[in-house]
Amino acid sequence: MSKIPFITKEKAEEIISKFPTPFHIYDEKGIRENARRLKEAFSWNKGFKEYFAVKATPNPTILKILKEEGCGTDCSSYAELLMSKKCGFVNPDIMFSSNDTPEEEFKYASEVGAIINLDDITHIDMLEKVCGIPETICCRYNPGGTFSISTTIMDNPGDAKYGMTREQIRDAFIRLKELGAKEFGIHSFLASNTVSNEYYPTLARILFKLAVELKEETGVHIGFINLSGGVGVPYTPDKEPNDIYVIGQGVKEAFEEILVPAGMGDISIFTELGRFMLAPYGHLVTTAIHEKHTHKEYIGVDACAANLMRPAMYGAYHHITVLGKESAPCDHMYDVTGSLCENNDKFAIDRKLPKIDMGDIIVIHDTGAHGFAMGYNYNGRLKSAELLLREDGSVIEIRRAETVDDYFATLDNYWNCI
Ligand SMILES: *Cc1c(COP(=O)(O)O)cnc(C)c1O
Repeated sequence: MSKIPFITKEKAEEIISKFPTPFHIYDEKGIRENARRLKEAFSWNKGFKEYFAVKATPNPTILKILKEEGCGTDCSSYAELLMSKKCGFVNPDIMFSSNDTPEEEFKYASEVGAIINLDDITHIDMLEKVCGIPETICCRYNPGGTFSISTTIMDNPGDAKYGMTREQIRDAFIRLKELGAKEFGIHSFLASNTVSNEYYPTLARILFKLAVELKEETGVHIGFINLSGGVGVPYTPDKEPNDIYVIGQGVKEAFEEILVPAGMGDISIFTELGRFMLAPYGHLVTTAIHEKHTHKEYIGVDACAANLMRPAMYGAYHHITVLGKESAPCDHMYDVTGSLCENNDKFAIDRKLPKIDMGDIIVIHDTGAHGFAMGYNYNGRLKSAELLLREDGSVIEIRRAETVDDYFATLDNYWNCI
């Protein structure tokens, strides 16, 4: 099985004649269609809303597209809040799901009218001090232990720094109610990049039961449950993608089984997806510039881990297509590398690919989320441009590439000192 890029070799050549590689390019049509599927899958829930996790793809053009599709944003820093505000997101379309939060950021979140999601019980006092307790408030829950779907362990919440324990979330609700909060939300993120239609329904069951219990124990009104992120995408071509309609139905069944009988059928379901919304709709496009035959066969490209960190950081697999060689046999084994002086700067290790010639254009798949965003400047490498393939087939630049002037811009009086 293979993954089909959303641009052809001819299209890539046309784009490259204007915008040199490397660059990230996003597929507007794919993004919109996927956002519509998500919305439809949860249309049974009156208050449903997706708060796009800005950290995945922090680009205003992308945020505006998602805004047009009815999404809000999920932020966890000042810059993300500011970008959301500048893009026209207003209360209640911004969620502030941060952790280890500085006072000023709570203050700013409150100013822009974000729904504040408290990661820790100590943040109640901080929030009260810096901006007062808002009427609508959310708390993040961490049940500890391991998180399993049937018998498979999916992740380890007990090792995760996020969220409040069961006792803490009850105490937090009681305290927040005393301090004037009226509308409560519950948030939890228990497994990352799940390729399983069971993740959200399993999480929903846990949170719906918790909501019923908390309502009884504390008497608060729970207005929404935020299933957060974690619905993943198959980075390898052998895996079946999640079916968002099946996921939506699974959550609906849990909702009707647990919340409706408890008289809590008015609860809105929120999501904070990042990867699922964007990953498949981004490519990192790069050119083969070097081949090296030593103890292994290497292909050097003009992108590096500074443009896409996931392989270096997590050993993540990203599928590669050599444009124009889609149907050529994969009879060569390569390490595809960037230029960093770090041996983990490899987009692929021992990957079977068609024979690569210098100048070949290479598409690295599924870079639309947590791709450009995780970029950095090690070795003085610069961040690339971001482009948008629009629905009419035209291509626009939505962020220019960095220049060395950008790289030096934060050095005070640099040129005077040397
Ligand atoms: C990262 C993050 C998300 C998005 O996660 P994805 O895996 O990209 O869906 C959502 N909510 C919070 C609080 C996060 O930290």
